[in-house]
Amino acid sequence: MKALSLLKKYFGFENFRPLQEEIINAVIDKKDCLVLMPTGGGKSLCYQIPALLSEGITVVISPLIALMKDQVDALRLNGVSAAFLNSSLDKSAQDSLMAEMKENKIKLIYIAPERLSSGLTTFISFLKTLNVSLFAIDEAHCISHWGHDFRPDYLLLSILKEKFPHVPIIALTATADKLTRGDIIEKLNLKKPQLFISSFNRSNIRYIIEEKDDHYNKILEFVKSHIDESGIIYCLSRNNTEELAEKLVGNGCHAAAYHAGLSPDVRNKRQEQFKRDEIKIIVATIAFGMGIDKSNVRYVIHSNVPKNIEGYYQETGRAGRDGLPSHALLFYSTSDILKLKSFVSVDGNPEQTKIMLKKLNQMADFCSSYSCRREFLLNYFDEKFSGPCGNCDICLGSISIPLFDGTIIAQKALSAIVRLKERFGIAYTINFLKGSDSKKIYDEHRFLPTFGKGSEFSGDEWRNYFRQLIDQRFIEQQGEFSILRITEKGRDVLYKDLKVMLKEFKDKKINKKERKDRYAVNPDSENYNVELFELLRQLRLRLAQADNLPSYIIFPDSTLVELATFFPMNKTDLQHISGFGQIKIGKYGEEFLSVILNFCQKHNLQTKINEKIKLHSPKVVRIQHSKNSSDTKTESFELFKKGMTVPEIAMQRKLNENTVIDHLIHFIVTGDINVLKFISKEKLETVNKAIDEHGGVKLSLLKEKLGDKFTYPEIKAVLNYRNRKM
Ligand code: ADP
Ligand code: ZN
Repeated sequence: MKALSLLKKYFGFENFRPLQEEIINAVIDKKDCLVLMPTGGGKSLCYQIPALLSEGITVVISPLIALMKDQVDALRLNGVSAAFLNSSLDKSAQDSLMAEMKENKIKLIYIAPERLSSGLTTFISFLKTLNVSLFAIDEAHCISHWGHDFRPDYLLLSILKEKFPHVPIIALTATADKLTRGDIIEKLNLKKPQLFISSFNRSNIRYIIEEKDDHYNKILEFVKSHIDESGIIYCLSRNNTEELAEKLVGNGCHAAAYHAGLSPDVRNKRQEQFKRDEIKIIVATIAFGMGIDKSNVRYVIHSNVPKNIEGYYQETGRAGRDGLPSHALLFYSTSDILKLKSFVSVDGNPEQTKIMLKKLNQMADFCSSYSCRREFLLNYFDEKFSGPCGNCDICLGSISIPLFDGTIIAQKALSAIVRLKERFGIAYTINFLKGSDSKKIYDEHRFLPTFGKGSEFSGDEWRNYFRQLIDQRFIEQQGEFSILRITEKGRDVLYKDLKVMLKEFKDKKINKKERKDRYAVNPDSENYNVELFELLRQLRLRLAQADNLPSYIIFPDSTLVELATFFPMNKTDLQHISGFGQIKIGKYGEEFLSVILNFCQKHNLQTKINEKIKLHSPKVVRIQHSKNSSDTKTESFELFKKGMTVPEIAMQRKLNENTVIDHLIHFIVTGDINVLKFISKEKLETVNKAIDEHGGVKLSLLKEKLGDKFTYPEIKAVLNYRNRKM
């Protein structure tokens, strides 16, 4: 297939990401498209490949000059003739660029929307003299008042369809609810647009929420355990950013503040230094982030609760664009939420204030929830996903929290709500259940039959159970005051004896060791040679400085990880490394190979490139013949390596989750997957002991001995672990 060979030749990638191929085909068929994909999903290729496949020129409209430059630099390094036309170029540079465009020498031209306003007709008529094959509108939500980032200049784009009725338009964005989507289609005059919405799951991001006590030390512990890596820390106020940056510097970290109060020069300089890894940590107000797409940001920390889930998702999305394991760490306190309540109200606009407060309450729910973070986030964005995801604080911590029959507890909570006529919030209802003698309890409530019927639990325990009942949708919270109401499902508990399972109460506080594990780099990423990775990183930095570019534009971290995993020995081997297109093999191949060869010689290491080739052996063939058991295992493993979770793999491959687990467990034997992905350390020891004690007994017997707290996959994982090839 042509598109696939261009992907390999120019970008050095073996496969398309989900939806990329479909989108490219639609564009080639001259269809208008609207594409929703999360940050890092791979939107750019959706118009870059069609640009390479078409005869004429592709015009890309992008809002930020800094981003344009990065994109163009990256394309040129891959041998694609791209350029940007904006106010940073002087007149003669603009003229000569336009001459090149006329001579058909440029495949992709990036422009800012305002280009269409200054001398609108002249620029449009200039474009008319060219053979324009496609318009790509990046950050398309900027055209909508409903979006969160409206830019009036984007409205100028509505003229494109009128002037170029036969040129397809592809609009791309990472955030657009239904309203915004409709607006984009309408304002751009898209004709019978094809809508592509990809999954918004960022499976490589580990979501962690911590209570905000002693949070400076927790932040310090975190950044110290990621000392060579880049991260962004968000604070609420300019002062906070300055103070925190200063403290971190005092503790030996490479940090700097960034906020709207600094002069544009200082801001630009710090942004540039961050991109070039000269500053590792940016401590910023939310002003920071729009203008960069640095792919190797390894973590985003929120030292305050964001105002809404949209903002949180967007900010955390700046971590891990390269697909490697990354962290999103948020510090939560109820007093922060109270503070924000006054911030979010919009003077003179009660309607909007109501919406903002609702969003803030949802943010608070997210933080205090006991269900999988990823499930909560994706459901919030109307995407079906059910946890456990295995990569958030809840899923990591709760593997060992057992379930119990909580029907009676649920009935008590629900009948209290009924007795209180569904007119009170959590705090009051808990006081009521506990039979509190607080003056706040109305006298008439003291005589109700449920009053004091829940005195066996502490307030914290009750809060935990209420949260779980809300998470499981037995109860919902409504209105500005988060009043408790019973859902249909909740009524079934009261009136139809529906059983309720709850997780045992466990304080969310975790011990030092647990925290360290959570903050640590994902164990999977340690399969590469860290020492070699470091040498390659230094080489990349030298090359980047020589070319006056940020490192990640030369190669993303994921390319270095592959080099340090598979040890390619020559240029043919390099063709199998993701990110090495033809031009880059020629330009950088030798220098990287020489570092790798030296290192392997010195440490007596053999190339493992065959494993990589095996992983990528023709995919189409494998799907057709995937009945072969080792192939189907490899296919699951391949997706797992890409960072997908078990439920996601199951969904994509239309398999049962247990089947997928079975596939993956197989790779514990080969040493490719860490057993701790499937079972906690403590449980591993217990199972180990049981196997020692009972010898080579059958799986079902072991299961019987170990009881309900252990699952079959867990036991199998340990058996495979004991059989692993060292
Ligand atoms: P977005 O614009 O959606 O945020 P990008 O287009 O910048 O995402 O892509 C994010 C990263 O993923 C880039 O580093 C890009 O090179 C990489 N990428 C995109 N498509 C693929 C692919 N098919 N295979 C491997 N890497 C890819
Ligand atoms: Zn989870």
